[in-house]
Amino acid sequence: MAETIRINENTWRIEDGSVRFYLFCGTEKAALIDSGMNVPEAREIAEGLTSLPLIMINTHADPDHISGNGSFDEFYMSPAEEENYRDHGGKGKLLPVREGDIIELGGRSLRIIDIPGHTPGSIAILDGKNRVLVSGDSVQDGNIFMFGKGRDIGLYIKSLEHLLSDHDGQYDEIYPMHGTFPVMPELVGKCLEGAREIQKGNASGRNVKIFGNPVCLYRFPYAGFFCASV
Ligand SMILES: [Zn+2]
Repeated sequence: MAETIRINENTWRIEDGSVRFYLFCGTEKAALIDSGMNVPEAREIAEGLTSLPLIMINTHADPDHISGNGSFDEFYMSPAEEENYRDHGGKGKLLPVREGDIIELGGRSLRIIDIPGHTPGSIAILDGKNRVLVSGDSVQDGNIFMFGKGRDIGLYIKSLEHLLSDHDGQYDEIYPMHGTFPVMPELVGKCLEGAREIQKGNASGRNVKIFGNPVCLYRFPYAGFFCASV
């Protein structure tokens, strides 16, 4: 059973075991940001918390983020993520969102920031007024999946550089989909440093298995990365 926790007057997090998703309410609309791994009833949960018209936004389309999408006819997502979404059986109409787009909830504007790398169409969502960044899986203190189809550590590094150079100072807290809630903005620079060390071949990892796949886990004090085994 997913657990619903109120963060403040108009924001909730829904904890689904090892993954979480969020409900952000404005004055005119509410947005569900992701829909968990085992929560086909995500829409009903959200509708139990708000009577506002509800929209769906996905940070990316790995299967632990889309389980409740089936009850939405349409959803906002990066078009670069559509292949990943359909590969996981995702249905409905993709409403494309790109870098700089604003989704207006009424007194609460959500700005889309493209941060590909973890997946081809990963996005972060900046709630500037409330000084919160929703980071999806890309900035978190658990282990970030960077092996297999569509993952690109070079792009990931560029995306975190973009967050640092263009959005630093615009948020006080990061809301991730895994690991500790919330995490602090400093984690962006730390994850960037870790990814750079892996790319340069300076990090030492250990071989582990994930879903039967041999991968290499690079664990730093602040976060970890599952990468292709070397
Ligand atoms: Zn995930």
